[in-house]
Amino acid sequence: AQTFGIAEVLETLHIKEINDGTSTGSHWTGNGEELNSYSPVDGALIAKVKTTSKSDYGNAIATAQKAFRQWRLVPAPRRGEIVRQFGEKLRELKQPLGKLVSYEMGKSYQEGLGEVQEMIDICDFAVGLSRQLHGLTMHSERPGHRMYEQYHPLGVVGIISAFNFPVAVWAWNTALAWVCGDVCIWKPSEKTPLCGIACQKIIADILKKNGLPEGISCLINGDYRVGEMMTKDNRVPLVSATGSIRMGKIVAQAVAARLGKSLLELGGNNAIIVTPDADIKMTVIGSVFGAVGTAGQRCTSTRRLIIHESVYEKVKKAIVDAYGQLRIGNPLNENNHVGPLIDKDAVDKYREALKKVVAEGGRLLVEGGVLDGEGYESGCYVQPAIAEARPDFEIVQQETFAPILYLLKYSGDVENAIDIQNNVAQGLSSAIMTNNLREAERFLSVAGSDCGIANVNIGTSGAEIGGAFGGEKETGGGRESGSDAWKIYMRRQTNTINYTTELPLAQGIKFDL
Ligand code: NAD
Repeated sequence: AQTFGIAEVLETLHIKEINDGTSTGSHWTGNGEELNSYSPVDGALIAKVKTTSKSDYGNAIATAQKAFRQWRLVPAPRRGEIVRQFGEKLRELKQPLGKLVSYEMGKSYQEGLGEVQEMIDICDFAVGLSRQLHGLTMHSERPGHRMYEQYHPLGVVGIISAFNFPVAVWAWNTALAWVCGDVCIWKPSEKTPLCGIACQKIIADILKKNGLPEGISCLINGDYRVGEMMTKDNRVPLVSATGSIRMGKIVAQAVAARLGKSLLELGGNNAIIVTPDADIKMTVIGSVFGAVGTAGQRCTSTRRLIIHESVYEKVKKAIVDAYGQLRIGNPLNENNHVGPLIDKDAVDKYREALKKVVAEGGRLLVEGGVLDGEGYESGCYVQPAIAEARPDFEIVQQETFAPILYLLKYSGDVENAIDIQNNVAQGLSSAIMTNNLREAERFLSVAGSDCGIANVNIGTSGAEIGGAFGGEKETGGGRESGSDAWKIYMRRQTNTINYTTELPLAQGIKFDL
């Protein structure tokens, strides 16, 4: 670990050998079992975290509820000022935090920095938003009446995040929720607890310096059992959960059983359609980055290429050739394109998927395999693979969180490709590569892609914070980040004010007394 300068990173971010995993701000505790954080980069144990016990959780939620009573009274632009300070601090700490993300999660250092940049961007967005939490005014049907709507904060917002974006997803939620006047409790993935601890320390310091109470930002740590404490708790009106479809189905039911709100950001099975009019060079760059970036562990990773038969061989050759250039290894070394998978369970799932595609009749064009030897001691490094497959294979219908790309062939019109693209359970990201205006517009039309994200001449992977982010069908339907995604963190109230001395009833109803 020392060879990567990780010791300095941990020191700068105040990570100790054993960390308390529960925090309400400056106050830290941890009475649950111990959790080890291993790096997939070199297999080293980075540090231990004492997870959140039931009573730790109870104290955190009580503190959060108390803080909400004060925080909701702080004017929104003043809340924005706190988020502005947070963004400034993140600019200062971008390198160490980016490196921790890279080392604990395994994505490249550049992507680690990119994640912190997303946090900074959403802070900027939230600061502007803090003066724009607009409601509408309407014309009342009754004389001498005024009608309008306003947005009030919800209260305690629970955030459950996945390992693959260990800091940005929290920021997308929390920066907006804070300016909306909510307080937040965050349970990071049990695979990346140190990223959570580092972020909480950064914001806790800012809240303290501004004389704000404990509880505006809380952290809890542990596995699904700690997550369940929130999903079943009616003191948490909104649970924002990012992770697998399997998790989302459980969380959605638990939250719905108490009629709470949930915001779900779940798995994808993203495709790029390559039409006869596609720019092949752009297609190759977009597809390869989409499929192997973050070792195929993005919710928006490209999993399927749907290629027209007329350009199939050409695209296939160009992509297989590009895979030959990929350098796999330590993600902190900027020369490498592909880092490790998160852990050995993920490696097993990758292996199983490759076996399955062959068993179903697919053909491996780039075989893949697990790497060993010097530099690959963690056992988490795999070779990105390409398989020729058919759209209806069971394995092609699923999201395997690893760098496996399926090549699928279509013939005839672009409608046939759109049918293949839409004919999966997930609905997150989609793209078309074409210079044909009609095809592009058909893809974006009401009869086009059914995903939350649909791109033209850009791959499926990644997104800007200015747009609303999320997907349809089994991806869960939630929207985070830009546009009007803030509305989910607030409750809407319709107000009607009568400034006359009469009390006319709506719909012309007479009620003479
Ligand atoms: P995961 O579902 O295993 O875990 C995600 C989080 O949910 C973790 O914090 C985990 O502890 C918690 N959790 C699991 N079961 C729970 C339960 N029953 N109750 C409460 N909490 C529970 O997912 P992962 O392996 O960490 O992440 C990969 C998945 O996340 C992929 O499917 C990926 O597509 C998805 N993802 C989606 C988005 C998006 O925005 N749509 C973003 C990132 C990741």
